[in-house]
Order: sequence, then C-alpha cells, then structure tokens
Amino acid sequence: MEQPNAPAIVLLGNGGLATARRVQALYPQARVLGLAGRVEGADECYAEFGETLRELYRSDTPIIGLCAAGILIRALAPLLASKGAEPPVLALAEDGSAVVPLLGGLGGVNRMAREIAATLNVAPAITTSGELRFGTCLLDPPAGYALADIEQGKRFVSDLLGGEAVRVEGDAPWLAAVSLPLADEAQRVIHITAEARPAQRDELLIHPRAAVARIIGKASAEAIRQALADAGLAPLSLACLLATRERMVDGQLAATATELGVPLRFGADESALPPLLREADGIAIHLADAPLEPATIGQPRGRLTVIGLGPGAAEFMVPAARQALDEAQDLLGYETYIRMAGPLRPDQVAHCTDNREELQRARHAFELAASGRRVVVVSSGDPGVFAMAAAVLEALDDARDPEWLRVELQVFPGVSAALATAAKAGAPLGHDFCLLSLSDNLKPWDVIEKRLDHAGAADLAMAFYNPISRSRPWQLGRALEIVRRHRAPETLVVLGRDIGRPAERLSITSLGELTPEQVDMRTLVIIGSSLTRRVPRGNGEDWVYTPRWYR
Ligand code: SAH
Repeated sequence: MEQPNAPAIVLLGNGGLATARRVQALYPQARVLGLAGRVEGADECYAEFGETLRELYRSDTPIIGLCAAGILIRALAPLLASKGAEPPVLALAEDGSAVVPLLGGLGGVNRMAREIAATLNVAPAITTSGELRFGTCLLDPPAGYALADIEQGKRFVSDLLGGEAVRVEGDAPWLAAVSLPLADEAQRVIHITAEARPAQRDELLIHPRAAVARIIGKASAEAIRQALADAGLAPLSLACLLATRERMVDGQLAATATELGVPLRFGADESALPPLLREADGIAIHLADAPLEPATIGQPRGRLTVIGLGPGAAEFMVPAARQALDEAQDLLGYETYIRMAGPLRPDQVAHCTDNREELQRARHAFELAASGRRVVVVSSGDPGVFAMAAAVLEALDDARDPEWLRVELQVFPGVSAALATAAKAGAPLGHDFCLLSLSDNLKPWDVIEKRLDHAGAADLAMAFYNPISRSRPWQLGRALEIVRRHRAPETLVVLGRDIGRPAERLSITSLGELTPEQVDMRTLVIIGSSLTRRVPRGNGEDWVYTPRWYR
C-alpha cells in the first residue's frame, strides 16, 4: 500500500496554534502551516489560503483546517465537482472544542475525526449513517485489509441499514467491537479472505493483505498478478514484494512495485517468511493466515540525499530539499545547519557533529542508509560548493562497499553563498567569474596563490569562500596582494555576511580599501572585474553589477 501523505494542519490565526500542536503530537509526520504575517511559530508559512488548500487537496494531502467549516468548503468547492483525489478534510475549532469531518469518507476522515476527538476529549461530529449505526465504517477496513469492491460495498451497507442481518466469515478482529446486526443464518456475509473470487450480491468481500511475492527472476506487474491468480489469490491480498539485496538497484522492479501499489522489501530470509504457496516462473508466493506488516519483512532500499539549505532563509531553499527534510528519518550535519533545517519532528534523529570530520559523517550517512533508513546530509548553500556532496562521493569512492552502492543517492542543489550575496548586491557575477576557497586545509597554499594569480590575470570576477579564520589569519591579506597586482585600487568589492540570516549585512568597498579586519569566516567576498560598476538604487545606496559586455 502506498504510504498516505502526512496531514497538513492549516492555521489562519495564532489562536489555534496550541490545538494544532496537540493534533501534531497525534500525527508526528504532520506539518503545521501558518498564514504568513498572521501566524508565528508554524512549521511553514503560506501566502494564500485558497490556493494553498486547493494545492494540498489536489496532491491528496489530508487537511485539518483550524477554522470554520464554511471557509474550507468555500475554498475547496471549485475542486469538488470533478473526480480526482479525495483526501480527508476536517474542520477543527481553534480551541479544540469541535472536530467536523467534511470530506474523504473513504480516505478515513471519520477515523481521523475519532482519533482527534479522543485526543481533544470531545465528541466527533460524525454524520455518516452507517458509521453511526455500527460504530465503524465498514467500507474503510483498518490497515492490512482491503475492500474488494466499493460500489458493491455501498449497496451492502445500505442493505444493513435497511434492516438486513449479517454474519462474518473469516477473521475480522476489528469487527468484534462493532455493533452489527449479527445472525448465524443471515444471508448477508462479510467475508474476509485472501482468495480470488467475484464478490457475490450479498457479500462484503474484504481481503487481508497476507501474501508476499518473492521475486526471483524478472517480473512485471502483469506477471505478478498472474502468479497471484494462479495461486488462487486476489490481487489485493498482496502485502509487498520481496527481492534479494542485489536487486535494490533494479529500477524496473521498483516501477513494478509502484504500479502494484505495494512496498518493495529486500533481503528477508526465506525462513522468516510465511509458508510457500506456489513457485513458478521466477515468482514465489508466500501466504500468511493474517495480514502481514511489510515493515517487519527485510528492509526497504535506503536513501541518502545530500541537500543544500541555501543561504539561510527558508524561502530560498529549493522545494525538493524541503521535501527530503520532511521525509528524512536521520539528519546529519553541523549542528547550526541542522538547527536551520528544523524544527525536527520527534521521530527524526539528528546526528549533529561539531568537528570537521566530514568524511566520517559521510560514512556514517552511508551506514544508516544501507540499513534502509532515509538519510539527509545537510550543507549550507549548495552541497556541491565546498561542502558535503564531494565528501559523500569521496567516501563512496574510497569504500566501494557494495551495500553503499545499492543506496539510492541523490544530490539536491541549493543557492550558494556567492549567488545569494551577488543577488543582494545586484549582479557582480554577471559576467565570467570563479569561485575560490581560501582555505588551505585541504589544498596547498601555493595552489591557491597560482589560481588567484591566473584569475586576476584573466580579469575574472572572484568569490572567496572561507576567506579567513582564527587558524588562517594571514592568508586573505596575501590573497589580496596577489589580486592587486592585476586590478586597480578602485575595483569594486562586495562583502556579504550572514546573507539570508537575521544578522545579514551587505557592504560595498574597493580593493584599495579592503582590509582583512572587515572580513570573518561568515563573510563571502566578491572581487569585481575591471568592468564591475555601481548604479544608484535611488535610496542613497548603490547596486553593483558586472556588465555582460567588454568594450
Ligand atoms: N556550501 C556553502 C559554502 C560552504 S564554505 C555554499 O554553497 O554557500 C563556508 C563559507 O561560505 C563561509 O566561510 C563563507 O565564506 C560562505 N558562506 C556560507 N554561508 C554564508 C552566508 N549566509 N553569508 C555569507 N557567506 C556565507
């Protein structure tokens, strides 16, 4: 089964924040979204209520709106006529005194309403007649079970509401707590079975997800459906696919699992599986007598995502990086960056390191990911610019560990400090430029001098990362001496300190006036080319840009 999306808890004002956090404690994966300028302390901000709500709805995200039911109804009305995603939508009173399930009956909205109501100690406003009568939605069986045919199910429930009695065949533990009109001789049957069979007119057919398809050879979705059919099993009785660890890199197999809508697991020992039912054509079907919990079978393919947070401000982080953070189970990086990436949920593990042991951190990330975890390594700016992406690849290159090579490795870019600083200043990097780290921790100082000399001679604009530190006090002064051999004292210099962070400071000076005392390790230094110039902003300050031309 596809993981359902984590709920979005949407706030219009600050009044509901406490209630939102109580609901978030119930759904730790949920995000609290606050209207920008009105809500302080939400996990994320949004600018436009209606658009945000419709976007969440379209992407099948459960919505818990801390506002009047009418506001939610109006916002979503344009989407309701067309068929599409129908996630649960609930209105929740800001003070937590009422919870109203509005939409998404089949997505489990009433179940969520009950869970939230229990947390807040109120009664859920359930209006679904079948639910009221029986205390459960018969058409929304719990995790591990799948309803064979929804249309037929609706007829079945209305028959029961019309007074028909029912009996249960098979094992349905959740129905024990339900007040059904039971009778041994009843014509209507709730049938729990993994068997493939057409649902009879008087039957509510529910399949326990109790089968594992162990993929030995090549297998398409079609072949797996056929293998289940040949074993006499319904397609919906499939709990997961299982393959050997070597198959983690098999993209075709991953696509097949997605097409079938089941998790793909790896490396479980055959002895740990339920009994073998049938094996043919490279597919072995194992069947348990109750639903299986796929999370207990082997492990998933782990994922290691190296992201850049951008310079600091959340709106300058790319959405793919945000999503990776939301999905992460483990986060690794300098403590400052992990804090910037937060707030983390209680189920997320932060592995903070203060030291400069980047390779060790990269190896730790691979170890975690190889065990099946979703791991994110965090850098500031761009992860490929003097940051963790290269360290991660060095670790991979050193080890060539087959387990690490099976990890799904991704690198997501970020806005690097030079680009963020340049944008603040205007366009000082508007023509050819180079990025240099002045740190000689990992390269000899004479290499740095040679590069500065060549870049100076080539009239490239330059951005200096790691310009100075307590352990490297003299290097910047020496670098400036070299650049001054090629460039006039009037050459423009931009200093960006803590760009994108609360203490942001941008200043413009010249090569002649620049001294190392104006610079620290949180500063990005841009040295203009011979053509870099100023233009007034109109407020007494200047833009700095390097024109696209030479003349
Ligand atoms: N991966 C980062 C760079 C890491 S090297 C990036 O792409 O931005 C660290 C250096 O980057 C610092 O010494 C400083 O020169 C620069 N830097 C990082 N963040 C900065 C910021 N917010 N403002 C100014 N300079 C920054």
